[in-house]
Amino acid sequence: IQWFPGHMLETKEFLRQMIPSVDVVLEVLDARLPISSANPLLDKICKSVPRVKVLNKKDLADPNATTQWLTYFNEKFHGQCVAINGTNKTETWKTVDDAVKTINRNKARKARVMVAGIPNTGKSTIMNSLAGKKIAKTGNTPAITRHQQRAGLKNKIDVYDTPGILWPILENQSGACRLAASGAISDTAMDYAEVAHFTADYLLERYEAQLRERYRLKDPFPSTANELIEAIGTRRGCLKKGGILNWQKASEVLIRELRSGKIGRISLEFPRDHLTPSPE
Ligand code: GDP
Repeated sequence: IQWFPGHMLETKEFLRQMIPSVDVVLEVLDARLPISSANPLLDKICKSVPRVKVLNKKDLADPNATTQWLTYFNEKFHGQCVAINGTNKTETWKTVDDAVKTINRNKARKARVMVAGIPNTGKSTIMNSLAGKKIAKTGNTPAITRHQQRAGLKNKIDVYDTPGILWPILENQSGACRLAASGAISDTAMDYAEVAHFTADYLLERYEAQLRERYRLKDPFPSTANELIEAIGTRRGCLKKGGILNWQKASEVLIRELRSGKIGRISLEFPRDHLTPSPE
């Protein structure tokens, strides 16, 4: 998806119109990269509305990182933070319902909930899990549906069937690489080789054991990103004529297997890397 200023204005306007009738905003983040998958516009526009930060795709994330993020956000952020696997309907329903119950101000009626976040974080999946039926089309669509309806739920919350779709922030290079590695940026808009290089560097530093296991790499273990991509490509037969390594294919293997969780449960961000030191 390409976000143009017009789309951004439209989204802001949509949120401004929706907010007054919303009781709780579910801010959907990717549990593997909860900083880079956020859009600070929500902090500004949703100041007056209670918010639940939902770290989704916890089944793909490193459980250690997720525990640390939950502690971090529950201390720093005035609201609730929960971690879920949005594809698990029962877990999603229970966790979100509990969180909404604790912060909803208006107890007289069902809480009106709006789901918001950047593409691919799992908004539609979560909405469908909450509604117990298909109310949202999954997949990346920047278009904003004009008419809003609340999905009728038997339970205690009403979910608006139109999510607030925010744009990813691509201003810093490493954040953009993490978003691309997670699948939040369309493949046509990213350079596989660059993202794979960035990812390989990171995995070598943090997840060597998982790499060893997945690719059965022999010693001497690759010590640079290029060596790692080359070793993976060779193992997977990503070769061009004459036995030359096909870097594009090798890079795609690494990214694809990271996204699908085949390398293991991996988080691309930890709170300690994002804490700003307090001024002296
Ligand atoms: P949206 O663009 O924010 O509405 O995201 P979608 O709901 O379309 O989800 C994007 C992709 O992530 C889809 O392929 C979903 O099946 C997948 N997905 C969503 N939630 C989870 C989750 O908790 N775990 C895993 N493994 N995949 C998920």
